[in-house]
Amino acid sequence: MSDRLPSNARPSNFEIVCRDGLARLGRLKTLHGTFETPIFMPVGTNANVKLMRSDELRRIGATIILSNAYHIAVRPGLEVIQLHGGLHRFMAWDGGILTDSGGFQMFSLKNFRKVSDEGVTFVSPYDGSKLFLTPELSMDIQRTLGSDIVMVLDHCPAIDADYKEAFDATRRTHEWAERCLKHGIKKGQLLFAIAQGGAFEDLRRASARHLSEKDFDGFAVGGLSLGEPFEMTLRLAHATVSELPDDKPRYFMGGGSPRTIVELVAIGVDMFDSVYPTRLARHGTALTSEGRLNVKASRYRKDLSPIDHRCDCLVCQNYTRSYVHHLLNRGETLAGMLLTYHNLYYMFRFMERVRKSISEGTLEEVRREVGEIYEERRGDTADVLFVDYDSLGRRG
Ligand SMILES: [Zn+2]
Repeated sequence: MSDRLPSNARPSNFEIVCRDGLARLGRLKTLHGTFETPIFMPVGTNANVKLMRSDELRRIGATIILSNAYHIAVRPGLEVIQLHGGLHRFMAWDGGILTDSGGFQMFSLKNFRKVSDEGVTFVSPYDGSKLFLTPELSMDIQRTLGSDIVMVLDHCPAIDADYKEAFDATRRTHEWAERCLKHGIKKGQLLFAIAQGGAFEDLRRASARHLSEKDFDGFAVGGLSLGEPFEMTLRLAHATVSELPDDKPRYFMGGGSPRTIVELVAIGVDMFDSVYPTRLARHGTALTSEGRLNVKASRYRKDLSPIDHRCDCLVCQNYTRSYVHHLLNRGETLAGMLLTYHNLYYMFRFMERVRKSISEGTLEEVRREVGEIYEERRGDTADVLFVDYDSLGRRG
């Protein structure tokens, strides 16, 4: 089934250009471009980054986005994607696509699934239909989607799972990772493993060590950013990352506030995804050079300044806070569109700055500054997470 070459016969897809402490500036090569890391990937669960067109994403600097194999397989269904020749054509996006396997939905849709060692049965929250997802099927789905980066099917335990539960989920994650590797993907696609381990440092280390011995193209830190205290996120992520191979990309799943990014880049993480900027935008909050700005607040009703004085995006060049405030007040869709555009623009400029600081050896300065303007609340996306934590889960 697999036409995957053994690792010693494949050219390396990841190269570290320079370092600043543990932080790395790298280049990751995929079928749809070579991306500089550390990188932020906006989330497009339903084959769209909410309120952004693909050409706009491209124009403001997005190079790779995240989508979700499980959700796309359910709606619109793989036959529709096949008609288009893949997910790229379907959503008119010629950049990179990383697809999550469906493992996270075992966490977020916990009332709609049944897990065994063989796989997981999902009951569609839309119409009650069943899908039996196995590691092998997850690989087939992501092969059909044509994802540039394929994630293994994993079992993501709740962050408050006890030791036995976390241990079992981790063991299952390892077995499934092996099955994914054995089943194989398309030539040129990259396959990433996901380290689990719940809230337990020893399990996290063991998971990272175990997976590191296998022939994956990259490794993810899974099962964090689920609402746990920030200090715990960092401690557990560090336990995982410190056991991962140095020469492969490391991806922190589901975390992407400026603070989370800069703290994790500093311990050697290369890739991030989060609904943070887009979901905040839809709730009326802008990311700015001075921290978060709640544009809904009545003090902006007559404020003629741009969202962010230091931003040169199309929104900040043309619209006032007063106008966006008005749109939010009237529940106009354009408010979310303008803020989404600005917030993503902000994130891509922020990532450029992080990368530049690594090459100049000044990441510590950025870290200090971000620490001052972006105080971390509980977890990374937790405070936005629970605003509309609907049946589609966090990656919506
Ligand atoms: Zn702007």
